[in-house]
Amino acid sequence: MQFSELGLHADIQRAVAEQGYDTPTPIQQQAIPAVLAGNDLMATAQTGTGKTAGFTLPILHRLATGKNDRLSRVARTPRVLVLTPTRELAIQVEESVRTYGKYLPVNSLAVFGGVGINPQIANLRRGVDILVATPGRLLDHVQQKTVDLGSIEIFVLDEADRMLDMGFIRDIRKIIALLPKQRQNLLFSATFSPEIRDLATGLLQHPVSVDVAPRNTAAETVKQQVIECDREQKKDLLVHLMNTRSLHQVLIFARTKHGADALARRLDKAEIKAGAIHGDKSQGARTRVLSEFKEGKLVALVATDIAARGIDIDALPYVINFELPNVPEDYVHRIGRTGRAGMTGEAISLVCHDERPQLKDIEKLIKRSLERVVVEGFEQSAVAAPRPPAQERKPRSQGAGRAKGAPGGGQKKAPGSAQPKRNGGGNGGGSGGGQHRSGSRHR
Ligand code: AMP
Repeated sequence: MQFSELGLHADIQRAVAEQGYDTPTPIQQQAIPAVLAGNDLMATAQTGTGKTAGFTLPILHRLATGKNDRLSRVARTPRVLVLTPTRELAIQVEESVRTYGKYLPVNSLAVFGGVGINPQIANLRRGVDILVATPGRLLDHVQQKTVDLGSIEIFVLDEADRMLDMGFIRDIRKIIALLPKQRQNLLFSATFSPEIRDLATGLLQHPVSVDVAPRNTAAETVKQQVIECDREQKKDLLVHLMNTRSLHQVLIFARTKHGADALARRLDKAEIKAGAIHGDKSQGARTRVLSEFKEGKLVALVATDIAARGIDIDALPYVINFELPNVPEDYVHRIGRTGRAGMTGEAISLVCHDERPQLKDIEKLIKRSLERVVVEGFEQSAVAAPRPPAQERKPRSQGAGRAKGAPGGGQKKAPGSAQPKRNGGGNGGGSGGGQHRSGSRHR
């Protein structure tokens, strides 16, 4: 199927063609006709599937062609509301609106916390057709009466599962209560949990269901490897991998903000240009680091899960999990940063003894065993070293079964060749990993 077959407004097709897209992705093929027809939509799709264009394009078409639609600034109140869990995603969705709507007289605006509210108020006053917002800041505007949601015709809840994880459910319900009863609703979620089902039942009327990524299946296009090593060796191993595999544009995941900063510093010291992005950084600092990374001035970007949500970089080739996430679904989100829209990508996870339970949970979730690789000179010791007190898990010491060679061996050899190793599946064992969700609200 070609984009031209979807019947989108010529000015939208022109903007899409300029992006170099000729074939709609599966979610776009299914979602665009449903939204154009005015249906509510329940879409199960991860980031990387092309979901943003999947809702942005038909929304722009509806605004440009609807019966009472002159796209004038007369009413000044937004007609489309897109709620996103993070400010980064809000910025990116709004950028997509601008990209695809560049030949249409459409006004869009992203409002999110962490930055001054006054410029947003001034922009809202000028009139906005498509408002993209994080829930907290939107409610601030509602309270200050600087936004009127009474003319919303289309409501989009993007990454709904993440919204719930981040504790936004009450805010979402408050916002929904402010919308006109008569409207079109589109709900996007990477997973379809009972909570999402509940939310969907209350929100959607006879929705068309679209499911492009079977629940929690890791992207097929991403080559995934596990390098088993010791916790204390991870930083050296990372530097080694960066240098010997000539990795570039690498997104590295760390579990904590402090850890992300420390790792970026360590890479810098090894003359690998790196920046960190996390919730404690100001919006300005995050945007700067992200654009330096996109421009290739930084080779590596170290991020926490929350900060990385919604980072949209075309054809990101590598993701490294410096530490595994506690929540297995986050692994799927992380590797979804690469291998996008049909590109191949590579995800490497550095896994120490303590992380075996998380690895086991991840493999259970994605229903496959990940390839183990040993990097010479960084072999995992037979027994885990005691954990520093800051860690949440108790030391696990039954890891001897998977040691390679003599304990602590191989250290004298020049670090180098990685040898693929068949994975036996049941590794180390242990009960399910910690299921704590961490979340932060952006206001
Ligand atoms: P998303 O899932 O919305 O985050 O989009 C993932 C990436 O795919 C973005 O970088 C888009 O620019 C890109 N993309 C979206 N639609 C298409 C398409 N039809 N063909 C090629 N790339 C696309």
